[in-house]
Amino acid sequence: MKADFHLHSSFSGDSDTASEQIVQAGLQRGLSAICFTEHYDADYPYDDVCFELDTKAYLGRIRELRSVYRGQIDIGFGVELGLQPQLGALYHSYVEQYPFDFVIGSTHLMDGKDPYYASFWEDCTPEDGIRRFLEITLENMKAFDDFDVYGHLDYIVRYAPLEPKRFLYGDYGDLMDEILRFLIDRGKGIEVNTGGYKAGLGCPNPCPEVLRRYRELGGEIVTMGSDAHTVEYVGSFMDEAQDVLRGCGFQYFTLFRERKPVFIRLD
Ligand SMILES: [Zn+2]
Ligand SMILES: [Zn+2]
Repeated sequence: MKADFHLHSSFSGDSDTASEQIVQAGLQRGLSAICFTEHYDADYPYDDVCFELDTKAYLGRIRELRSVYRGQIDIGFGVELGLQPQLGALYHSYVEQYPFDFVIGSTHLMDGKDPYYASFWEDCTPEDGIRRFLEITLENMKAFDDFDVYGHLDYIVRYAPLEPKRFLYGDYGDLMDEILRFLIDRGKGIEVNTGGYKAGLGCPNPCPEVLRRYRELGGEIVTMGSDAHTVEYVGSFMDEAQDVLRGCGFQYFTLFRERKPVFIRLD
């Protein structure tokens, strides 16, 4: 079966796509389950995009879509939280207020700055930026661990000015192992984010070396998501992601319903 557990619609500040269009794209591509994971990045420092989330309206829309598409496709209610070390208490009480199926914790900001912008890299080398990104990821999960999976763990390589754009596990293995052990000790998963293919990396985020290491250290929970913000990427590169997972020693991928993992055998 195919499932896409990382999807954005116009409830996210950086998407204009109606959520019903995402559902229809999922149906067309033969997905059995999808989960919306709209952005909520509290304290986002830039004015050109707003990453607040109207969660009540979003939940209402999910309930409408579920009643329209019942029996055709499972529609999950999820959120992607942009973590920062000072936001732990705020996100703890936020997550408790809503009946989420699935919560992704992600690092989008580093010391209050977004590495998406080229100006970020004027002040640091690619290697220092990547290392700092991992240090902050560890700080973020220590401040808030009420998520189900950590999103796109090596996402920083999409933006670091390196050629080729590749995460070299060997360069950061000490920190990455600390992150993976932290997650495994708390029963947390990671995701295979196929947006890495879209970004031209030739692999998902994180890269196979990190997925394999998570498995070697005893990790078992891996969700799959496209991180689509438009219809064209819904369900994209899922066959490739399943191949990568099998190659890294996994036999199952994971879905979440009501914050509980459900293990699905890889095709
Ligand atoms: Zn993200
Ligand atoms: Zn996302």
